[in-house]
Amino acid sequence: MAAKWTPESWREHTGIQMPVYRDAQALGAVEAQLSQFPPLVFAGEARSLKAELAKVTTGDAFLLQGGDCAESFAEFHPNNIRDTFRVLLQMAVVLTFASKLPIVKVGRMAGQFAKPRSADTETIGGVELPSYRGDNVNDIAFTPESREPDPERMVRAYNQSAATLNLLRAFSTGGYASLDRVHGWMLDFMGRSPLAAKFDAVADQIGAALDFMRACGLSPDTVPQLGGTSFYTSHEALLLPYEQALTRQDSLTGDWYDTSAHMLWIGDRTRFEGSSHVEYLRGIGNPIGMKCGPSLEPDALIRLLDILNPTREAGRITLITRYGHDKIEAGLPKLVRAVLKEGHPVVWSCDPMHGNVIKAANGYKTRPFDRILAEVRGFFAVHRAEGSFGGGIHAEMTGQNVTECTGGAIAITDEGLADRYHTHCDPRLNAAQSLELAFLLAEMLNE
Ligand code: PEP
Ligand code: MN
Repeated sequence: MAAKWTPESWREHTGIQMPVYRDAQALGAVEAQLSQFPPLVFAGEARSLKAELAKVTTGDAFLLQGGDCAESFAEFHPNNIRDTFRVLLQMAVVLTFASKLPIVKVGRMAGQFAKPRSADTETIGGVELPSYRGDNVNDIAFTPESREPDPERMVRAYNQSAATLNLLRAFSTGGYASLDRVHGWMLDFMGRSPLAAKFDAVADQIGAALDFMRACGLSPDTVPQLGGTSFYTSHEALLLPYEQALTRQDSLTGDWYDTSAHMLWIGDRTRFEGSSHVEYLRGIGNPIGMKCGPSLEPDALIRLLDILNPTREAGRITLITRYGHDKIEAGLPKLVRAVLKEGHPVVWSCDPMHGNVIKAANGYKTRPFDRILAEVRGFFAVHRAEGSFGGGIHAEMTGQNVTECTGGAIAITDEGLADRYHTHCDPRLNAAQSLELAFLLAEMLNE
């Protein structure tokens, strides 16, 4: 029998990947302040997302989750939010058309600020300093002052999340996300891509379907679903003092929800039994994700599922697998078999980013686009062979024209990485690569 859960029971467990704040009083003051701030999302919205995800578990919808590896204070700009939202919507239209399924859209946005690191410190030129842990913890600049964890940064992250979410809500329901506009953006992209010829046909068919619907009297003016969309937010629930401060009891059901985002996920490094992160997440009512990498054994996965979803509620759990292009086909089947045998309802989503990081010859951390696609292919091949539904994609991407992942139709070379390498953490797909991924996914979903 599990001990009683409270919003702070995680403090009695093994907490890793969180900063040690020098000034406990300042930390306490920030936690008290945040706990008085308005919730960013509403429990009912988290339940709606869970209901949409429940449809993915039965193969009746597909999950698209994407956004920055790490949001940053420096890149906070309405155009960046708009462009990432826009590319996610374009991807969703392509996927809807190909799969004939509704697409559940979830941004790694409006709260994705805390980062787990492979080492506690970083050494440059013989100087050793604490690692950068995301803008809500410390600053990326390599100085002792910048790297000192500062609790006040959580307040800034909250404010930036609130403003981002406000814009996303306006975009998704205020006319910007209307289906004909999204189609128009796609034509614009197609005109510039070397893949234009290959994918013109798909864009044309979508255009014809829209014309047909309009002739039938179905337009954004008459059908609300064509004039807007539902869009949800998510981030890794890593910095637990922040998450705890935004944990609120729902007045309708009495259940606890983390109101910092609709969906929270637990990272590959913190998903072990007995961790503070597993303890915190088991008690909140939000839909939750769990990253599953090569070190996760099937029996440990089942124990974690029993802890995180003891009532086996569909839509509660999304398993985000991140093996690497050369490991997925050997590693994933045993997890899928165990989950099918136990009858746990889960969404299976593919993160083809985190197992495919390499260092380019010139020192840049990158991800080759062909390895990303190879992992996606392996993911669908495994699920097809095992008789389960590969139901989602989880991508680090941006609407900006960055040069962080090599390859793609507008090929980025190792040398080209230096041109516009802006990420605060891991390399992201740029707008063109993201849309290309969507088209290739569409082909795979149709196979
Ligand atoms: C991430 O999603 O940015 C991340 C750190 O992933 P993982 O926990 O899978 O390594
Ligand atoms: Mn990342």
